[in-house]
Amino acid sequence: MPPARDTYCSFCGTAYAPPLAYPRSCPSCKTQVWANPIPVSVVLVPVARDGRTGLLVVRRGIEPGRGKLALVGGFLEEHETWAEGGAREIREETGVVVDAASLAPFWFTSTSPRPNRVLLFSIAGPAPVDGGALEAFEANAETLERGLVFGPGGLAEVFAFALHVEAARRFFEARGADGPHGFVTV
Ligand SMILES: [Zn+2]
Repeated sequence: MPPARDTYCSFCGTAYAPPLAYPRSCPSCKTQVWANPIPVSVVLVPVARDGRTGLLVVRRGIEPGRGKLALVGGFLEEHETWAEGGAREIREETGVVVDAASLAPFWFTSTSPRPNRVLLFSIAGPAPVDGGALEAFEANAETLERGLVFGPGGLAEVFAFALHVEAARRFFEARGADGPHGFVTV
């Protein structure tokens, strides 16, 4: 068994009595602890390349989904809005600079079967990033490749997360793009 979090009260050190369900109340100081679902900011970044518009993706170098593709995003830091955190993740993972103020809400949903994450999908805009003007990409431990996908076909086989497939499908459907994903590195 891995060590469980919140086994002891972080305010007074008293051990919680089993069963360790949330929310749990400390028998000594009465403080309650919760395990609220955590938001994840994920950004759809349209990129124009060779007369087509694709979505920016990364090939993941870490679990979960190591070796598979994903839209770019991650957890927020304590001082960040969803837009600031999304723009930071894009910059850190791909080197692409998008203005946090340019991100617009696109779709939000909860993970399944455990709804312990809330995915906040946004879209960068209004114009696509110029794919011909991107700085060269250097692979790192977290991101093995930077690339584009151009349609919904086959995304379920190459994407790490079903909800990213669904977000991309909604993007391409709205644009009338129904072809294969056609992944290319950029
Ligand atoms: Zn306590």
